[in-house]
Order: sequence, then structure tokens, then C-alpha cells
Amino acid sequence: MSSPIEINERQYPGIPSSTAIVICLDGSQKEYFEEASKLNLTPNIDSFKKNGEDLLVNSAIPSFTNPNNISIVTGRPSSVHGICGNFFYTPSTGEEVMMNDPQFLRAPTIFQKYYEQGAKIAIVTAKDKLRKLLSHGLKFNESRAICFSSEKSDQANLSENGIEDVNKWLGMEVPNVYSQGLSEFVMAAGVKILNEFNPDIMYLSTTDFIQHKYAPGDEVANTFYAMFDRYIGQLNVNNNSIIVTADHGMQPKSRSDGSPNAIFLQDILDETLGKNISKVILPITDPYVVHHGALGSFATVYLSDKSKINDAIEEINKIEDIEVVLTNKEGCAQYDLPTDRMGDIICMSSQNSTIGSAEKAHDLSKLKEPLRSHGGLHEREVPFISNKKINLNDANIKLNNYDAFYHAISGAM
Ligand code: ZN
Ligand code: ZN
Repeated sequence: MSSPIEINERQYPGIPSSTAIVICLDGSQKEYFEEASKLNLTPNIDSFKKNGEDLLVNSAIPSFTNPNNISIVTGRPSSVHGICGNFFYTPSTGEEVMMNDPQFLRAPTIFQKYYEQGAKIAIVTAKDKLRKLLSHGLKFNESRAICFSSEKSDQANLSENGIEDVNKWLGMEVPNVYSQGLSEFVMAAGVKILNEFNPDIMYLSTTDFIQHKYAPGDEVANTFYAMFDRYIGQLNVNNNSIIVTADHGMQPKSRSDGSPNAIFLQDILDETLGKNISKVILPITDPYVVHHGALGSFATVYLSDKSKINDAIEEINKIEDIEVVLTNKEGCAQYDLPTDRMGDIICMSSQNSTIGSAEKAHDLSKLKEPLRSHGGLHEREVPFISNKKINLNDANIKLNNYDAFYHAISGAM
């Protein structure tokens, strides 16, 4: 056992004696577990809930994938690590910059700090967009680190990923990026890595393809959670500590006729404030828009004319389905966001509605099922399920999903 490690102003225990495993099961609103459990499809998770911990915690805002994955692996919110969406906007140049490169990361990851102390680290992510951020600071030439994505598993090599011939090794082809197979691949790889590589710390991060398409209790969703539970059983060996949490929840966001319930904020602001005054940025936008059409419940607005901020807030406040409208300063203070990567106004929509930019900017033709999405306060609460009891010093403090590694490592000492 090594001495405690300080990471982003928190004292972590030293290198654990068994494996500390955190799983971010993307988009897992708690009802998915509850519904699958009713049919006895998740015996392993059910026993964790009974004998370990079954908590509900907060995810970081915006309740999107990248900000939360990075919060989980740094142990801190976006105000500290800087990743607050899939991209940020630079008003001076009009550039929209993808934040999937480590140059935008403002804090070291827990993996990097443990690696520096000699720990063995394994990370598997479904989508490749997260991989570079997650593996930042690791070295792959010392046989102590593995990090790859299911999406690009065929491109994994020793110098960048610490592993090669992944598909042959695992006996699984590269899954389609829009399939449940992408997440199953993560879990199967996690089990094999545990058995053959025996990491000190392991992070498995899936994708929310199933959760965007199917509601809790749907047969397809239940099958997914049953699959997940079988792998959990295989990870729950020796004295391993396992925490299952999520990056965000998921809510239905369609109208009764099945069309997406969206507020096209850019159109509204163009009409009320005038053209070219405002720029609506949706940080959910990424290259994988098929399952949500870039519609989520969080938006930030930049104004070219700062004297119009109050007018814009007043107009946005009139929109029925918008619940939160704050200035940059208020919003960043309240939700731990980096002020320089957010616009002049921050807003979030209600449980069953989303915020779009201009209607014509959204290609919704590929949305086959009624829209389900996330990004706001109604998808903030996520499960936090542990196979071990957690020492909660103060029961009044609500945990965050980004406390997962602290408790997983503490449980594996
Ligand atoms: Zn997600
Ligand atoms: Zn999503």
C-alpha cells in the first residue's frame, strides 16, 4: 500500500490492494434499474443494493456525457476541469471548438495521478470522443496502462492504447456506433482485462444509445440491463470494489403526436431581439446526432451586444417550458461551470422539453422513436450503487457522481 495521493484538492487513499472499478452506465435514469429488477433480471445489482449502497446522487450540469465523464475521472465539476460540453464557442472568431482534446483539460485525472504513483490503470469507453481526454497523462510503453474505445477497437495499438488486436483478443467485431453492442463490448472487455491485466483502477464508460430510444421497462431496455448485470457478476470477484453510476439520467421529450418537444430559441431571439444579436449554443451537439438530433435541455446564449442581456433574459423568461434563465455569473456560480466557456446567459428547459437553436439547423429526419434526451436539472439525479458499504461521514451531504472513484478506491483498500 502506498501513501495517500492528493488529486484536485482531495486526499485519496493510496494504491488499492484489490481492483477499484467505476462504471458510468450512460443515461441510466434510476427507473431503468427499478424496472429490470421487478422482473428479476438484475440479481447482481439487486444484491449490491441490498448489501452495499443504493444512493441517488447529483451529476454535473449540464447533464451531458463529456462533462460528467470528465467530472467522474477528475473528481471535480466543470469549473475545475473545464470540460462543460462537447464544444465551446469563441465569440471573437465565431469558431466552435470541439472539447475532446486534452489541451482543453484544466485538471489532471485521477488515473494520471495514480499512474504516477505506480498504479496499473485500465479504461474502456464506448465512443472514441472521450478516449484522449480519459487517457491524458498515461504512458503506454510501460505495460501499466490500457485505454481504448469499442468504436475504434480495430485501431488500438500498443503505443497509443497499450493493447493491440483487440477484436481478436476479445472475440468481438467492432460494433456499430449506433448499437447496444458498443456498450456490451465495453463490459466484455472490462471482464477480460480484469482477469488478464489485473488493474488497480478500472473505468468502464458505456453509451446511451438504448436509453435515448427505449423507456425504462421496455423489453429492449430490460434486456440491456440484464446483459449489464451478467458482466457485473463477473467483475464482482475477489475483494473488488464496484461503483455503478451514470453521467446523467434521461427523460421523454416529445409531444403527444410523437414530434420532438423543442423550443427553437435562436428563432425566438432573432424575432424578438433582431438578427445577429444572439448566438444560441447547444453543448450537446456532436458528430453523433442520430439519437437526439442535437436536442437537449441545456443552452447557453452569447450576445454580440452586451447591453441586450437583460432584454434577452426577459424574452427567454416568457417561454413557458424554460425553467432556468441565469446570467453567466449566476449560472456558473450555481452549477460549477467555467465562466470563460459559457455564454452570457445560461438556460435549461423543463422535464419534457428541449432547447434547439434555429429550427432549420436541426436534422430530425433520423429520429425514429419519440425523442428522449437530457442536459438539464431533471436528468441530474443518477443512481450510485456500490457493492460495498460507503462510509458517509455526514448524511446531509448529497454525493455527486464524481465522488465515485474516491469511494471505489476506499472500498478496495
Ligand atoms: Zn451520456
Ligand atoms: Zn445522450
